[in-house]
Amino acid sequence: MSSQPEAPPTSPLSLSERLQTVTEALATARTQNDVFGVVLTPAREALEAVAGAVLLVDEAGIRLNLAATQGDEEGAQTLWQDGPLDGNVPAGDALKRHEPLFFEHEGDLVRAYPELEARTGGVAAVATAVLPMFLDERPLGTLILDFQEPHTFTPEEQRFLRTLAAQCALALGRVRLNTRLQHELHTRTQMLDWNARAYEAFVAFSEAAGQDTDLLSLARQAITALRAQFPDGSVVYYEPEGELWTLRAWSEDLGEDFIALLTAGVPSSTSFIASTLQARQPVFTTALDPEQQQVDRNEVYGTAAHTPIIVGGEVRAILGLGIRESRQWQARDQAVFRAVGRTLTLALERAQAQRDAEERTRRIEEDARAQEAFAAFTEAASTETDVITLAGQAVNVIQARFTEGIGGYYEREGDLWKLRTWTSNLNTQPDFIAALQAGLPSDTPFIVNLLRERALIFTESWDAEHEGIEDSGDYGTVAAYPVIVGGEVRGFFTMGFKSTSRWVERDRAIVRAVGHSLTLAVERAEQTRRLAEQNVELSARTRTLEAFAELSRDLTLHGEPGALIRRAQEIVRSLLPPGFAVYYELEHGLWRVRSQVDSHGSPELQAAVDAGLPRETPSLLTPFDTGQPLYQDAYPQGADTPAKMVRHVQAVATLPLVVNGAAVGVFGVGLFEGRVWSAADRAVLETVVRSLGLALERAQGVRQLAQRTEELERSNKELEQFAYIASHDLQAPIRAVTSFAGVIDRKYGPQLDERGRLYLRQIKKSGEHMKRLVDDLLAFSRVHTEQRPLRFTDAGAVLGTVLGRLQPEIEALGASVTHGELPRVVADAQQLDQLLQNLIANGLKYRREGVAPQVHVSAEREGRVWRFAVSDNGIGIEPQYFERIFVIFQRLHGREEYEGTGIGLAVCKKIVERHGGRLWLESTLGQGSTFFFTLPGA
Ligand code: ADP
Repeated sequence: MSSQPEAPPTSPLSLSERLQTVTEALATARTQNDVFGVVLTPAREALEAVAGAVLLVDEAGIRLNLAATQGDEEGAQTLWQDGPLDGNVPAGDALKRHEPLFFEHEGDLVRAYPELEARTGGVAAVATAVLPMFLDERPLGTLILDFQEPHTFTPEEQRFLRTLAAQCALALGRVRLNTRLQHELHTRTQMLDWNARAYEAFVAFSEAAGQDTDLLSLARQAITALRAQFPDGSVVYYEPEGELWTLRAWSEDLGEDFIALLTAGVPSSTSFIASTLQARQPVFTTALDPEQQQVDRNEVYGTAAHTPIIVGGEVRAILGLGIRESRQWQARDQAVFRAVGRTLTLALERAQAQRDAEERTRRIEEDARAQEAFAAFTEAASTETDVITLAGQAVNVIQARFTEGIGGYYEREGDLWKLRTWTSNLNTQPDFIAALQAGLPSDTPFIVNLLRERALIFTESWDAEHEGIEDSGDYGTVAAYPVIVGGEVRGFFTMGFKSTSRWVERDRAIVRAVGHSLTLAVERAEQTRRLAEQNVELSARTRTLEAFAELSRDLTLHGEPGALIRRAQEIVRSLLPPGFAVYYELEHGLWRVRSQVDSHGSPELQAAVDAGLPRETPSLLTPFDTGQPLYQDAYPQGADTPAKMVRHVQAVATLPLVVNGAAVGVFGVGLFEGRVWSAADRAVLETVVRSLGLALERAQGVRQLAQRTEELERSNKELEQFAYIASHDLQAPIRAVTSFAGVIDRKYGPQLDERGRLYLRQIKKSGEHMKRLVDDLLAFSRVHTEQRPLRFTDAGAVLGTVLGRLQPEIEALGASVTHGELPRVVADAQQLDQLLQNLIANGLKYRREGVAPQVHVSAEREGRVWRFAVSDNGIGIEPQYFERIFVIFQRLHGREEYEGTGIGLAVCKKIVERHGGRLWLESTLGQGSTFFFTLPGA
């Protein structure tokens, strides 16, 4: 087949040079096509081939595929086509034989392969070289060159072509390896990348699972982690809601409609849910039947996995993964899905545990706060007496215990129950507060219930509409506790919860305890208040009494009416709150201020009052005319004066001042604060004004009496003066008359006739009587004019002197004068002498006819004084004369019967009175008399 032709026209480059260039070029070739280009071009050029092609054995080693052509027209049909390796084709044969095939002359190829042209539709070239390529003994493909002319392949050319083919094989092998390596590298890198992302997602999820306690955010993290592992998968997270399972979180690839469908809820009976719930572990599905999915035919998943999230034995959620294409579950993927499901479960368990722990901590904290508040409340309850403050503290205790509770304390006002104090968390609803402050009517159903039950009531299904309390619709449970004091519901406090729907016994107990404490505190406060009130009243009464005592004393001391009125005003002012006291009297048709205590509080009012108020001023004229006090709790401003003057005067009382049965003026009191004039106030004012009236009356009487006394004393003095002068000056002429009458009697008596001597005796007798009169008068006047100081005096000794002096008379009368033991007294001895002398002498003088006179003198202690008695058995005195006999010159008998001047007893009376004692008598006519007198004891 080959021959030794002549050397073909050589190309400018030698074959070995070309091989060198090809080798260099191949070193930079990166792809198969690079290689084909580098190999085919020099081969064709060097041997002047018209076309070239490369056929490559496929991966399976059974076919040959056309990989590259050169020199043929695009799309031209050639012999070199894809086909089986062992299909009796030159390329296959060259590989089989392991040697190149050279067809040097036209028809050689067709002869060797007669069916080839027909089979391929191509036309064989004139000459052809088919060079097999091997790599590591494995057939790689063939390199083919076609010639238009017959071509003799010289040995040098054959070497060149073999080497070229070997180079090409090597280069292809290298490129292939490279490509594979690169592919692997790419795949690895991609895997790594995925793994890294998945890992990151896992880490993020695990981290979150360790910290996050929010279920939904944990679920979202799980979704991210799964999506990183299954980028072509959809992830969904469901939670139960009643009978439905609702989509709560999902991966971002989910369509809007599908999301809407799933968030609306899927029934538990849906096959994937039912099977998951039943299995209680991950369920992996392949080739899902859309009919069975029952969810949405548009969202068809070929592969799915669902895992129940079981916390505390209960399926709390379902995590699902769906992949559109149908594929078998790989163990690794299942493991990943399980791992995520487990991690989510653990995280939820932890979150649950943490929430439980937090709840416990919160409860403990709440308990601690409640205890603190309770302690504070108890403390306050023992000192605080204001009910609202106490209730506020009770409400605080409740709030400290139930942080979410909203509460308040209500008090009755008429037919309404008004909110008085409330928990601070209600402040965010000012309108609600305002409505509650305005008051809830008593017929509000829960209040009716509360008033009927009179005990703590709990409502677990609050019905705002039924209660008629707008804004309270959010509440679920409400507690109301009535505060009952003295059998009366004073108020109640309420506590409402928005979230809680049930009252546990423990919470009820707390509300009950606080309510009970509040009731006790309010009761105690009430008692304290009452006690304080009683104290105030008591001290007010004490003050009033003291003031009265002061007033009574002052009213007796001050005689001057102005001072008395002022004193009464001061007392009244001291007992009343700020204001003023004014006393008016009418003068020329105007009310004039006679006395004022404290300022009117307004210069205009003061000026008006000072100028005098008209007679018709109602507050003054009414009590004056009616004689009745006028009390005005709310002073009608403008009734008495222009209103603007008396804006500051709130309460007024005006009382008539009555002296000797007639109103003389008006006693007024004005207060700067409102006052309901109580019965006590009225009693005080009326008593003061009445006392004042009496004091004024008495003062008037005392003044008149003093005047009379003064007059009497003056006339008495004049009389005494007169008596003294008269008696003293009369002594000399009387003595002269009597002594001359004696001279005449002695010298001319015998010369006078009987009648003459009778006249003379008459003169003498009258003279003597006149002397006695004068002596007695002198003695009378001397009781005052000749006084000695009172000394300790032995009454017995004085009596002895008197009896000694009276002895001759006693004897002459055959009388007897006896006496008991007499005491020492404080007395003027000379006057005591005179006193005893007069009384004993009278006892002897007024004796009964034919009865020997008997006189007895005695003394008896009577408290701090001695009572003396001088008794006789004489004629006695009729009771109607008991007073008269002590008046000077008063006598019961003529001088013919009993000699006397009628002055003796008047002197006695004066002496006893001078000693601060009393003189009186007891007597029975015809039996005798006893004269008593008292003297201060020693
Ligand atoms: P006189 O004795 O000088 O008349 P008195 O002043 O001593 O004046 O007495 C006044 C009057 O009281 C007497 O006139 C007499 O009527 C009456 N009288 C005084 N002492 C007695 C007596 N012991 N018994 C009865 N009558 C008496």
